[in-house]
Amino acid sequence: MSHYMDLASKRGLAYRCMKCLPPSSYIGEKGRVEAHIWKHHIPLNESPFFCSLCLFRATREGEIRRHVMTFPSHLLQKNKLMASNKFVGDEYYLKKSSNPYHLTPLDLVPMTHQESHDFWSTKRKRVEQPKGLQSGSVSLSPVHLAPLPVAPVHLAPLPVAPAQTLDPLLSSSTFLYKL
Ligand SMILES: [Zn+2]
Ligand SMILES: [Zn+2]
Repeated sequence: MSHYMDLASKRGLAYRCMKCLPPSSYIGEKGRVEAHIWKHHIPLNESPFFCSLCLFRATREGEIRRHVMTFPSHLLQKNKLMASNKFVGDEYYLKKSSNPYHLTPLDLVPMTHQESHDFWSTKRKRVEQPKGLQSGSVSLSPVHLAPLPVAPVHLAPLPVAPAQTLDPLLSSSTFLYKL
């Protein structure tokens, strides 16, 4: 049991979208399943707040106000309209639903502890965690040390001084003087 990593405790229970048709139900963290439901199962005009320009949905007014500054799709649409002088201001596109939907506990249900653990472990494989490494540890890519290039040293042959040869004539003359 020592190697059993309890992912359900670590990551929390996984939730299943009950609006998807099984078996391809969307599963994930609670917040992600909620976002999925808003995006895929609830009509735009039933989202509490929405943007008619980029179709961004939000459950809070602050979110819908912030998205005009940061949401790439909104900025893209805005630039397109501005290029043709048709942009009339962010406010114009921000809408508040007159008939907002409310998520209910029946829309997404928590999975069991064991199911959650199994689900997170399949997720983890997809994130490419090398086996043996605990999640959270930093995986360093192996460093390939290239052999240092060793420049071959060509030693020039040392100039060999010509051997001193005794001048036979000199020696003999010296010899002669001594006599
Ligand atoms: Zn769904
Ligand atoms: Zn928008």
